[in-house]
Amino acid sequence: MKAIVLFGSPGSGKGTQAKMLTQCLGIPHVSTGDMLRERIRHVAERGNGITPEKAARMAAKMHSGALVSDQVVNQMVEERLSDPDATDGFVLDGYPRTLAQAEHLDHWLDGRGTREVVIHLAVDYNIIIARLTGRRQCTRCGTLYNMASQPPREDTLCDKDGTALVIRDDDSEPVIRQRLEAYERQTRPVLEYYASVNRRVVMVDGSNDPPEAVFRKICQALETDDCQEDGRGTGEDAP
Ligand code: AMP
Repeated sequence: MKAIVLFGSPGSGKGTQAKMLTQCLGIPHVSTGDMLRERIRHVAERGNGITPEKAARMAAKMHSGALVSDQVVNQMVEERLSDPDATDGFVLDGYPRTLAQAEHLDHWLDGRGTREVVIHLAVDYNIIIARLTGRRQCTRCGTLYNMASQPPREDTLCDKDGTALVIRDDDSEPVIRQRLEAYERQTRPVLEYYASVNRRVVMVDGSNDPPEAVFRKICQALETDDCQEDGRGTGEDAP
Protein backbone atom coordinates (compact mmCIF):
# COMPACT_ATOMS: atom_id res chain seq x y z
CA MET A 1 0.00 0.00 0.00
CA LYS A 2 1.35 3.42 -0.98
CA ALA A 3 0.16 5.96 1.58
CA ILE A 4 1.17 9.46 0.51
CA VAL A 5 0.44 12.54 2.61
CA LEU A 6 0.69 15.87 0.82
CA PHE A 7 1.38 18.32 3.61
CA GLY A 8 1.50 22.10 3.31
CA SER A 9 -0.36 25.32 3.92
CA PRO A 10 -3.47 26.30 1.98
CA GLY A 11 -2.35 27.39 -1.48
CA SER A 12 0.87 25.38 -1.43
CA GLY A 13 -0.29 23.39 -4.45
CA LYS A 14 -1.39 20.17 -2.71
CA GLY A 15 -4.51 19.77 -4.84
CA THR A 16 -2.68 20.22 -8.14
CA GLN A 17 0.10 17.82 -7.14
CA ALA A 18 -2.38 15.28 -5.76
CA LYS A 19 -4.23 15.21 -9.09
CA MET A 20 -0.97 14.62 -10.96
CA LEU A 21 0.10 11.87 -8.55
CA THR A 22 -3.27 10.19 -8.82
CA GLN A 23 -3.00 10.07 -12.61
CA CYS A 24 0.54 8.79 -12.48
CA LEU A 25 0.17 6.16 -9.74
CA GLY A 26 -3.44 5.07 -10.30
CA ILE A 27 -4.39 5.54 -6.65
CA PRO A 28 -7.23 7.83 -5.49
CA HIS A 29 -6.93 11.46 -4.47
CA VAL A 30 -8.48 11.89 -1.04
CA SER A 31 -9.07 15.57 -0.36
CA THR A 32 -10.84 16.25 2.94
CA GLY A 33 -11.73 19.78 1.78
CA ASP A 34 -13.46 18.39 -1.35
CA MET A 35 -15.19 15.69 0.68
CA LEU A 36 -16.50 18.18 3.22
CA ARG A 37 -17.77 20.54 0.50
CA GLU A 38 -19.44 17.57 -1.22
CA ARG A 39 -21.07 16.45 2.01
CA ILE A 40 -22.46 19.88 2.67
CA ARG A 41 -23.81 20.11 -0.89
CA HIS A 42 -25.57 16.75 -0.70
CA VAL A 43 -26.78 16.81 2.85
CA ALA A 44 -30.27 17.94 1.96
CA GLU A 45 -30.89 15.27 -0.68
CA ARG A 46 -29.11 12.25 0.83
CA GLY A 47 -29.04 12.87 4.54
CA ASN A 48 -25.64 11.21 4.87
CA GLY A 49 -26.23 10.77 8.59
CA ILE A 50 -25.60 14.49 9.06
CA THR A 51 -28.38 16.78 10.20
CA PRO A 52 -28.88 20.06 8.31
CA GLU A 53 -27.87 21.89 11.51
CA LYS A 54 -24.59 20.01 11.69
CA ALA A 55 -23.95 20.66 7.99
CA ALA A 56 -24.63 24.36 8.54
CA ARG A 57 -22.15 24.42 11.44
CA MET A 58 -19.52 22.71 9.29
CA ALA A 59 -20.12 25.15 6.43
CA ALA A 60 -19.85 28.13 8.80
CA LYS A 61 -16.50 26.85 10.09
CA MET A 62 -15.18 26.33 6.60
CA HIS A 63 -16.35 29.74 5.42
CA SER A 64 -14.62 31.39 8.37
CA GLY A 65 -11.34 29.56 7.72
CA ALA A 66 -11.48 27.44 10.91
CA LEU A 67 -11.02 23.67 11.01
CA VAL A 68 -13.87 21.18 11.21
CA SER A 69 -13.79 18.85 14.24
CA ASP A 70 -11.27 16.01 14.33
CA GLN A 71 -13.99 13.49 15.06
CA VAL A 72 -15.97 14.32 11.91
CA VAL A 73 -12.90 14.39 9.68
CA ASN A 74 -11.26 11.27 11.11
CA GLN A 75 -14.41 9.22 10.65
CA MET A 76 -14.92 10.52 7.12
CA VAL A 77 -11.33 9.69 6.13
CA GLU A 78 -11.42 6.25 7.74
CA GLU A 79 -14.54 5.38 5.75
CA ARG A 80 -12.99 6.67 2.52
CA LEU A 81 -9.70 4.82 2.97
CA SER A 82 -11.62 1.60 3.49
CA ASP A 83 -13.18 1.85 0.01
CA PRO A 84 -11.99 -0.85 -2.44
CA ASP A 85 -10.26 1.65 -4.77
CA ALA A 86 -7.89 2.63 -1.95
CA THR A 87 -6.59 -0.88 -1.27
CA ASP A 88 -3.27 -0.23 -3.04
CA GLY A 89 -2.84 3.26 -1.65
CA PHE A 90 -4.03 6.84 -1.74
CA VAL A 91 -2.87 10.43 -1.88
CA LEU A 92 -4.09 12.43 1.11
CA ASP A 93 -4.56 16.14 0.47
CA GLY A 94 -5.41 18.35 3.46
CA TYR A 95 -5.26 15.54 6.02
CA PRO A 96 -3.89 15.21 8.65
CA ARG A 97 -4.24 18.84 9.75
CA THR A 98 -3.97 18.41 13.52
CA LEU A 99 -1.95 16.28 15.90
CA ALA A 100 -5.04 14.21 16.75
CA GLN A 101 -5.61 13.52 13.06
CA ALA A 102 -1.97 12.52 12.52
CA GLU A 103 -2.17 10.10 15.44
CA HIS A 104 -5.46 8.73 14.16
CA LEU A 105 -3.99 8.12 10.71
CA ASP A 106 -0.91 6.44 12.18
CA HIS A 107 -3.09 4.15 14.23
CA TRP A 108 -5.11 3.23 11.11
CA LEU A 109 -1.93 2.61 9.09
CA ASP A 110 -0.37 0.58 11.94
CA GLY A 111 -3.34 -1.75 11.70
CA ARG A 112 -2.41 -2.32 8.04
CA GLY A 113 1.31 -2.70 8.68
CA THR A 114 2.28 0.35 6.67
CA ARG A 115 3.62 3.88 7.06
CA GLU A 116 2.90 7.10 5.22
CA VAL A 117 5.42 9.08 3.20
CA VAL A 118 4.94 12.76 3.95
CA ILE A 119 5.67 15.27 1.19
CA HIS A 120 5.94 18.75 2.69
CA LEU A 121 5.26 21.41 0.04
CA ALA A 122 6.95 24.54 1.35
CA VAL A 123 5.88 27.83 -0.25
CA ASP A 124 6.56 31.45 0.66
CA TYR A 125 3.56 33.19 2.33
CA ASN A 126 3.39 36.14 -0.08
CA ILE A 127 3.23 33.73 -2.97
CA ILE A 128 0.49 31.80 -1.21
CA ILE A 129 -1.69 34.86 -0.76
CA ALA A 130 -1.22 35.85 -4.41
CA ARG A 131 -2.07 32.29 -5.48
CA LEU A 132 -5.19 31.96 -3.36
CA THR A 133 -6.66 35.32 -4.30
CA GLY A 134 -6.15 34.48 -8.01
CA ARG A 135 -7.47 30.93 -7.75
CA ARG A 136 -10.45 29.80 -9.86
CA GLN A 137 -11.97 26.33 -10.01
CA CYS A 138 -14.20 24.50 -12.46
CA THR A 139 -17.39 23.41 -10.72
CA ARG A 140 -17.73 20.39 -12.99
CA CYS A 141 -14.28 18.75 -13.28
CA GLY A 142 -12.48 20.48 -10.41
CA THR A 143 -9.59 21.77 -12.56
CA LEU A 144 -7.75 24.59 -10.82
CA TYR A 145 -6.53 27.74 -12.55
CA ASN A 146 -4.67 30.80 -11.40
CA MET A 147 -5.42 34.10 -13.04
CA ALA A 148 -1.77 35.18 -12.64
CA SER A 149 0.27 32.04 -13.31
CA GLN A 150 -2.06 29.54 -15.02
CA PRO A 151 -4.98 31.42 -16.53
CA PRO A 152 -7.68 29.66 -18.55
CA ARG A 153 -7.71 30.37 -22.30
CA GLU A 154 -11.01 32.22 -21.89
CA ASP A 155 -11.25 34.44 -18.87
CA THR A 156 -13.97 32.67 -16.86
CA LEU A 157 -14.40 29.28 -18.57
CA CYS A 158 -12.76 25.89 -17.99
CA ASP A 159 -10.43 24.87 -20.86
CA LYS A 160 -11.55 21.26 -20.55
CA ASP A 161 -15.34 21.46 -20.52
CA GLY A 162 -16.31 25.13 -20.92
CA THR A 163 -17.99 25.26 -17.49
CA ALA A 164 -17.96 28.61 -15.66
CA LEU A 165 -15.10 28.97 -13.18
CA VAL A 166 -15.81 30.08 -9.62
CA ILE A 167 -13.91 31.65 -6.74
CA ARG A 168 -14.19 29.52 -3.62
CA ASP A 169 -16.08 31.15 -0.72
CA ASP A 170 -13.03 30.86 1.51
CA ASP A 171 -10.58 32.41 -0.97
CA SER A 172 -11.26 36.01 0.13
CA GLU A 173 -8.27 37.71 1.76
CA PRO A 174 -9.57 37.90 5.39
CA VAL A 175 -10.56 34.22 5.29
CA ILE A 176 -7.24 33.29 3.67
CA ARG A 177 -5.44 34.94 6.59
CA GLN A 178 -7.63 32.97 9.00
CA ARG A 179 -6.83 29.72 7.18
CA LEU A 180 -3.11 30.49 7.31
CA GLU A 181 -3.41 31.25 11.01
CA ALA A 182 -5.14 27.89 11.57
CA TYR A 183 -2.31 26.26 9.62
CA GLU A 184 0.38 27.87 11.80
CA ARG A 185 -1.38 27.10 15.06
CA GLN A 186 -2.87 23.66 14.46
CA THR A 187 -1.24 22.10 11.41
CA ARG A 188 2.42 23.06 11.37
CA PRO A 189 3.00 21.33 14.77
CA VAL A 190 2.16 18.04 13.03
CA LEU A 191 5.64 18.26 11.46
CA GLU A 192 7.14 18.17 14.95
CA TYR A 193 5.09 15.08 15.68
CA TYR A 194 6.41 13.39 12.53
CA ALA A 195 9.97 14.30 13.52
CA SER A 196 9.42 12.89 17.02
CA VAL A 197 8.27 9.52 15.65
CA ASN A 198 11.00 9.45 12.98
CA ARG A 199 8.53 9.53 10.13
CA ARG A 200 9.97 10.20 6.70
CA VAL A 201 9.19 13.77 5.66
CA VAL A 202 10.46 14.99 2.30
CA MET A 203 10.53 18.74 1.89
CA VAL A 204 9.89 20.04 -1.61
CA ASP A 205 10.23 23.75 -2.34
CA GLY A 206 7.15 24.71 -4.33
CA SER A 207 7.60 28.50 -4.31
CA ASN A 208 8.86 29.35 -7.76
CA ASP A 209 8.77 26.31 -9.99
CA PRO A 210 5.84 25.52 -12.29
CA PRO A 211 3.64 22.59 -11.14
CA GLU A 212 5.29 20.15 -13.57
CA ALA A 213 8.74 20.86 -12.10
CA VAL A 214 7.42 20.46 -8.53
CA PHE A 215 5.83 17.20 -9.61
CA ARG A 216 9.15 15.92 -10.95
CA LYS A 217 10.76 16.66 -7.58
CA ILE A 218 8.01 14.73 -5.80
CA CYS A 219 8.40 11.79 -8.17
CA GLN A 220 12.14 11.74 -7.55
CA ALA A 221 11.51 11.68 -3.81
CA LEU A 222 9.03 8.82 -4.17
CA GLU A 223 11.42 6.84 -6.36
CA THR A 224 14.07 7.34 -3.72
CA ASP A 225 11.57 6.01 -1.22
CA ASP A 226 11.00 2.87 -3.31
CA CYS A 227 14.76 2.46 -3.60
CA GLN A 228 15.10 2.72 0.17
CA GLU A 229 12.41 0.10 0.66
CA ASP A 230 14.44 -2.15 -1.64
CA GLY A 231 17.60 -1.25 0.25
CA ARG A 232 19.13 0.30 -2.88
CA GLY A 233 19.17 4.03 -2.41
CA THR A 234 19.88 6.94 -0.19
CA GLY A 235 17.49 9.83 0.40
CA GLU A 236 17.74 13.59 0.27
CA ASP A 237 15.32 14.30 3.06
CA ALA A 238 15.01 17.56 4.89
CA PRO A 239 13.08 17.95 8.14
P1 AMP B 1 -9.04 22.73 1.78
O1 AMP B 1 -9.89 22.54 0.56
O2 AMP B 1 -8.14 21.58 2.05
O3 AMP B 1 -8.32 24.05 1.78
O4 AMP B 1 -10.05 22.78 3.03
C1 AMP B 1 -11.07 23.75 3.10
C2 AMP B 1 -11.62 23.80 4.50
O5 AMP B 1 -12.18 22.52 4.86
C3 AMP B 1 -10.62 24.08 5.59
O6 AMP B 1 -10.36 25.48 5.75
C4 AMP B 1 -11.31 23.49 6.82
O7 AMP B 1 -12.36 24.31 7.26
C5 AMP B 1 -11.94 22.23 6.23
N1 AMP B 1 -11.02 21.07 6.30
C6 AMP B 1 -10.42 20.43 5.26
N2 AMP B 1 -9.65 19.43 5.68
C7 AMP B 1 -9.74 19.45 7.04
C8 AMP B 1 -9.14 18.66 8.06
N3 AMP B 1 -8.27 17.65 7.79
N4 AMP B 1 -9.47 18.94 9.34
C9 AMP B 1 -10.33 19.93 9.66
N5 AMP B 1 -10.91 20.72 8.74
C10 AMP B 1 -10.62 20.49 7.42
